Amino acid sequence: MDKHPDTILILAPAGADAVNIRNVLTRITLRPLICRTDSELKQNLQSEYGAIVLTEEAVTTDLIALLSEAFLAEPPWSDVPVILIASLGVTNRGTHLATMLRGPRRTVTMLERPLGAVTLLTSMDTALAARHRQYEVRGLLRERDMLLSSLETRVSERTAELQRVIEEMEAFSYSVSHDLRSPLRSLDGYARVLLEDYSDQLPDAAKDYLEKIARAAQRMDNLTQDVLAYTRISRGEMILTPVDLDTLVDEVIEQYPAIEANAGLIHVRRPLCKVVGHVPSLVQVLSNLIGNAVKFSSPGRQPRVEIESEHKAGRCRVVVRDNGIGIRAADADRIFRMFERAAGNSVPGTGIGLAIVRKAVERMGGRVGVNSKDGEGSEFWFELPSAE
Ligand code: ADP
Repeated sequence: MDKHPDTILILAPAGADAVNIRNVLTRITLRPLICRTDSELKQNLQSEYGAIVLTEEAVTTDLIALLSEAFLAEPPWSDVPVILIASLGVTNRGTHLATMLRGPRRTVTMLERPLGAVTLLTSMDTALAARHRQYEVRGLLRERDMLLSSLETRVSERTAELQRVIEEMEAFSYSVSHDLRSPLRSLDGYARVLLEDYSDQLPDAAKDYLEKIARAAQRMDNLTQDVLAYTRISRGEMILTPVDLDTLVDEVIEQYPAIEANAGLIHVRRPLCKVVGHVPSLVQVLSNLIGNAVKFSSPGRQPRVEIESEHKAGRCRVVVRDNGIGIRAADADRIFRMFERAAGNSVPGTGIGLAIVRKAVERMGGRVGVNSKDGEGSEFWFELPSAE
């Protein structure tokens, strides 16, 4: 049989019922299909159809079980119209059967015997209109699914392409930064040798130029080191382990001369929590945040840096607070991007430190942010999974 939403499946085993129903339905060009047995009905339920017509003689416990199983397998958009033709009689058998037939994914309508053609056709009309709307919904859902899957394919193709481009760029910047370092060191080194060994033979202007060359080479070297650190953080393998931040903060303070020189200004509220993270990346995060807290101090104020942490729902939030120059709200997001620095900033730097912080924290499965008021100090924070 052709699949068709106007096909009406008829199961009416008594006398000429099936033929009579079919004859009425063909009057309005519907496609009645008489099923002689339960299994023939079951087979036809696999195809597209508009409604099922049953007479009371057809409704047995076997048929009810068969239909329940078939309806439960229907998709969510489907609500099969079932028309039951029965007599109410003294026993009220019709109503009883209709109740037994009811359940999910079907709507049972009972028509009382003796049945007129007009009643049957009107009910059928209503049932089929509802069924057509269901098929429309199915069409829309299919269209949506097709669009979604083509969208997903496009998104994953684009993502793969972008990923490839990013990897190429990172590999490129890594090799450029790496190769730039030795000529830069030569520039800086020779400029300093000239200054030291030929100091008495050089005019002041020449010494001044040589110092400028050495400083520029030094700045450029800082930049290449930061780009290298960024690409290492972005590309390297990250094995996450439990990390004791108390010990790590001490190591960072000791290892970085610019921080060590200000150790007396740094107050750590111990104990700090244990996080799940990657030690070299955490060293980068802490050294950048503490280094900045010390570096961006306010000219008229005794600098003070506080480091503390707190647990919250399986996460640990670490805060590095300073009483320095602060950050304007307009700069708060921007400064985490590569090469971005707050407007009017005259302190030397590359604008890469916070990009490293964000990249490292995100790769460790965390978040980072800043709360600050211009001129009133800053509070940089990052959150990582807790190891406790
Ligand atoms: P850099 O320190 O090399 O300039 P960063 O990426 O570490 O680069 O920081 C970006 C910018 O964010 C800084 O130039 C500065 O304007 C601002 N900033 C970072 N930390 C602080 C801080 N603790 N207080 C005030 N401004 C800060």
